[in-house]
Amino acid sequence: MSDLFDSYPYRDRFPVLRSLPTDGRPHDQVLAELEAMAHEEDAAWASGQCSGTIYHGDPEHYAFLGEAFTRFSHANALQRDMCPSATRFEGEILAMALDIFHADAVTDGKPAGLVTSGGTDSILHAMLCYREQASARGIARPTIVKPETAHPAFAKAAHLFGMGLRVLPVDPATTLVDPAAVAAAIDEDTAVVVASAGNYPYGSIDPIPAVAAVAAERGVGVHVDGCLGGFVLGFLDGAAHGIPPFDFRVPGVTSLSADTHKYGYGLKGTSTVLFRDIALRNRAYFFVPDWSGGKYFSPGMAGSRSVGLLAATWAAMVTLGRQGYAARASAIHETATAMQEAVRGIPALRLLGNSPFVVAFTSDDVDIYHVNDAMRGRGWRFNGLQYPNALHLAVTGPQLQHGVVARFATDLASAVEYAAAHRGKPAVSSALYGGVPGGFTPAAGIFITSAMTQMMDAQQSVPTP
Ligand SMILES: *Cc1c(COP(=O)(O)O)cnc(C)c1O
Repeated sequence: MSDLFDSYPYRDRFPVLRSLPTDGRPHDQVLAELEAMAHEEDAAWASGQCSGTIYHGDPEHYAFLGEAFTRFSHANALQRDMCPSATRFEGEILAMALDIFHADAVTDGKPAGLVTSGGTDSILHAMLCYREQASARGIARPTIVKPETAHPAFAKAAHLFGMGLRVLPVDPATTLVDPAAVAAAIDEDTAVVVASAGNYPYGSIDPIPAVAAVAAERGVGVHVDGCLGGFVLGFLDGAAHGIPPFDFRVPGVTSLSADTHKYGYGLKGTSTVLFRDIALRNRAYFFVPDWSGGKYFSPGMAGSRSVGLLAATWAAMVTLGRQGYAARASAIHETATAMQEAVRGIPALRLLGNSPFVVAFTSDDVDIYHVNDAMRGRGWRFNGLQYPNALHLAVTGPQLQHGVVARFATDLASAVEYAAAHRGKPAVSSALYGGVPGGFTPAAGIFITSAMTQMMDAQQSVPTP
C-alpha cells in the first residue's frame, strides 16, 4: 500500500508530470500505463479481504458497465434535446428505485426522485430540499436532527447550507437511536429528522417506524439514509430477517437515499434520492431565467453530467433484475452471518450492532487496532471505527468467494493472539473513514488534524518543476 502522505505514489515507475506534455503520447502506451496501475490496485480487493468499496466484484460485470458507459460517456445530460436517452435512463432508474422502496404504497403524495453523483450528493440534495421547505415556513435557521451514527454527509449539508445540526447519542448496547430522544429533540426549528438503514459504522437499522411516527406527530419529515444498505435491505425478506420496515411503506418517511454505486452495483458516480412527494423534490430545482446566456435551469446542484454514468447505472439495474439483486442480497446476508458467528466464537471479541451485511466488532480485552494490524499483515483491509474503537467489514461481492469466511475465522483468531501478545504497545492502525490502511499516527483512535490536512494536501498537491 502506498504512503498516504506521498503526492507522487508512482514516481519510481512512471515519470511525474509537472506540466502538459508538448507531444501527445500514443494510445497503446497510455493504456499500458493505466493497465499496470489498475491491475495492481484491483489485487487489493480481488481476494475478498477488503471491506466495502468494491460492491459487485466480477470483472465481467465491470467490463459490461464500461461498454455501456462508453456509448454515452461524451454526452451531456444537461442538453436533453441531444440525448433523449438520458431522460429515459434517469426516469427508469428512478422508477425502478421507487419500485424497490415501495413508493406504490404512498397515498399521500406523488413520489419522485433525482439521480445524483453519489451518496453524499443525494444527502445534500435532500437536506437542501428540507432547508428550502423550512425556509418557506419562515424558519430562519432550519435544523437537522440526526443520530450520532448517521453519516458525516449530514454535517456537511449543515455546514454548506447554513443549517443547524442536532446530534443524538445512540444506545451503546444496540447502536440505535431512541425514538423518545428524537421526539424530545424536535423543536420549532427542526427541518428534518434523519434515520439510517443501515448506518455506516455498524450497518444497523434505526427503529424507523417509531422515529417516523414521532416526527410525523410533530409535522416534521424523515429522511432515511439507505445509501449503504438500501439495495441490500430492499431485497431481503424483512419479517424473516428481523429487519424493521424502513421505506415508503412507513408513513412519515418523506425521503430516502440509496446508492446505485454501492449495492446497486453501478459504476462509481451515481446514487438516487427519492421523495414521497414531488413538491419536496422540486425544491432542488434551480432557475436563472434572465441570464444573457439563456434561461438556465438545472434539476439539482450539478451542471453538466455524463449520460454514460446514467446508461451504466441503468444497464446494471436491468441486467441484475429483482432476481439478481435478491440472490446477491441473500448471499451477502449468509456470508455476514457466518462471519458474525466466527467473531462470536472468539471470547476476546464483541459484536456491535445487528446487521444483515456489516460485521462490526470491538474488544473489551485487547486493543482492537492490534487486531487490525495483524489482519492487515494477512492482507485484510477493515474500516476502523471509534467511540468505541472497533473494526468493521461491509460484506460485498468479493467476500462471496469460496474460502473467504474460513480465512476470516482463522486469521481473526491468530490476530487476537497477536493483540494479546502486544498489550501495552502502540498499535499502527487507527480509525479513519474509508479504512485507509493507517500507519500515519502511532496513537490508535486519536485524530490528528494536521495529519489529516497533510493527507488531503498530498491528494491535491501539484507537482512543481
Ligand atoms: C457511503 C455512505 C454515504 C455517502 O455516500 P458517498 O457515496 O460516499 O458519498 C452515506 N451514508 C452511508 C450510510 C454510507 O455508507
